[in-house]
Amino acid sequence: MSLYREQGVVLRTWKLGEADRIVSIMTQGTGKVRAVAKGVRKTRSRFGGRLEPFCHVDLSLYKGRNLDVVTQVEAVDLFRSLREDYDRVTAGTAMLEAIDQVAEEREPSVRLFLLLVRALRALDAGPDEPSLTLDSFLLKLLAVEGYRPALTQCAACGTPGDSNRFSAARGGVLCDRCRSGTESPLDPGTIPLLVELLDGDLAAAGGAKPGATARREAGNLVRSSVEYHLDRRLRSYPLVSR
Ligand SMILES: [Zn+2]
Repeated sequence: MSLYREQGVVLRTWKLGEADRIVSIMTQGTGKVRAVAKGVRKTRSRFGGRLEPFCHVDLSLYKGRNLDVVTQVEAVDLFRSLREDYDRVTAGTAMLEAIDQVAEEREPSVRLFLLLVRALRALDAGPDEPSLTLDSFLLKLLAVEGYRPALTQCAACGTPGDSNRFSAARGGVLCDRCRSGTESPLDPGTIPLLVELLDGDLAAAGGAKPGATARREAGNLVRSSVEYHLDRRLRSYPLVSR
């Protein structure tokens, strides 16, 4: 067996036997990794609570045939402030779920890893609206995965300009010639909010002050776009308070 070092963020954990746990980790250089942490559920475990969801850690692992084995864990950032606040935990849980769904095992994606770390830092800093930090993260995730929504030009014909009709299936806003008639008109604040969340700084996203209608519509469009393009349900998304 060979030993390697990585840094990563813990996405999920499962109990294994009496005292062990399997952890799923989004690493910087190896993609998603599943590993066994032995004795982690004992009171005096040498891993000491550093292998919980959200923890950003430095790891030493033995490469196994099926599952790797964690031998050492150092904390990089445990995001304690995030983990003590219900609204931030639910928003962060949806982030971990989305990364877990799109990241492939042992398929490196530095961009996904860095996006996740930046988003968790933004949540840890205590934004006014964690749900907007989540929506910004999900729009940027779509872009990383190659499904960047078209917001300032028609998704079908590329004509630049504003539009208040949006189709998740067609990848963004639609001009008058391209819209099918099934897309309902949006609040004037909705598309500008999506532009701000997609292109703006993640750290500022949770401080945006949209109107209630724009915010609700933007959330619905983000969710439907993610679920359409990634072909997965986001189970924890509806639990996030808005
Ligand atoms: Zn068009």
